[in-house]
Amino acid sequence: MSAVRVAIAGSSGSIGTQTLDVVRAEGPQRYEVVALGVGSSTDVLIAQAEEFRPKVVAVADPARRAEVADRLPWATVVADMADLVEPADVVVNAVVGFAGLPVTVGTLRAGKRLALANKESLIAAGPVVQPLRATPGAELVPVDSEHCAIHQCLRSSLHGDEPGNPEVARLVLTASGGPFRGRTADDLATVTVEQALAHPTWSMGPKITIDSSTLMNKGLEVIEAHELFGIGYDRIEVVVHPQSVVHSMVEFHDGSTIAQLSMPDMRLPIGYALAYPARVATPFGRIDWTRTSRLDFELPDTATFRCLTLAYEAGRVGGTAPAWLSAANEVAVDAFLAGRITWRQIAECNAESLERYERSADHTVDDIVAADTRARQVAEEVLPA
Ligand code: MG
Repeated sequence: MSAVRVAIAGSSGSIGTQTLDVVRAEGPQRYEVVALGVGSSTDVLIAQAEEFRPKVVAVADPARRAEVADRLPWATVVADMADLVEPADVVVNAVVGFAGLPVTVGTLRAGKRLALANKESLIAAGPVVQPLRATPGAELVPVDSEHCAIHQCLRSSLHGDEPGNPEVARLVLTASGGPFRGRTADDLATVTVEQALAHPTWSMGPKITIDSSTLMNKGLEVIEAHELFGIGYDRIEVVVHPQSVVHSMVEFHDGSTIAQLSMPDMRLPIGYALAYPARVATPFGRIDWTRTSRLDFELPDTATFRCLTLAYEAGRVGGTAPAWLSAANEVAVDAFLAGRITWRQIAECNAESLERYERSADHTVDDIVAADTRARQVAEEVLPA
């Protein structure tokens, strides 16, 4: 059997580097890296390319592209991340934020497997992405740990992951609760960027780590689950599970709940998405039952973590509302990371931006980009001066 050809869009980030860990562990007979792409982290890209020798590398930052071409004369250097799709069998989309949309669209349109870590593209562009999933050969396998868990749980159903599986009673997404679980809004008035970046169980990039601290990440994952599995919002629930060992659950109509458990290590969902329907041979952490003596569950505190409720609202409105909220949230998170607003103001700005939602067409990529652009303008307006 020839090696599976892998492209990684966003190879310098947390998911990108962990994808290369999986490839390294599984060996070149199993996976061949054919394309890598970054925004501007060209030092990391050059080191990765020297190790894995991809045919194509993408550099989004025009100021750095020539330097990469000089250093990697044997590679084709391109500007557009969507050009990584052509030489690959599987494309890992690990771009951060809405910027990942062209890779999601390009991969599905080309009829290839999309290992999706960039949830924002699916959340924002659901109306555009859904029809592309019907392209012959196209396949969307989630890398997000909760959705990977649900994907695995659904394998116990006759209908598998077909959208709107009629055997499913509800999806239960687990949330670690982030670094501020159990704190009140007043406690959280003065939290610092460092505190918000200190996630208790998962090691991730800054955008998603802040989203975890506000529960916006879980809210976006509710929309993601709706888009991926075609289950209505009334049948998607969130429970806080601080140990991050149960990654999500599916309850079927007969009352059976199937859960997926593993140590919190993103290399498992990455390996799952690369190898599906097989499994990689390398274990990335194993549960030690002498240490994992309890698994706790509690309801989320939606008064303190308002972003979760906002995401349900946007999801139920549908159309470009999820794109709008996700874009506004990117602006608010950037403002928090830059020290322009407080942690509590992230949710306030998101709520205010969603209040001002302007319904618009959602048929094409351009429609979605227009909604994203407009939402960012509105979010900038609602940020405190
Ligand atoms: Mg997740």
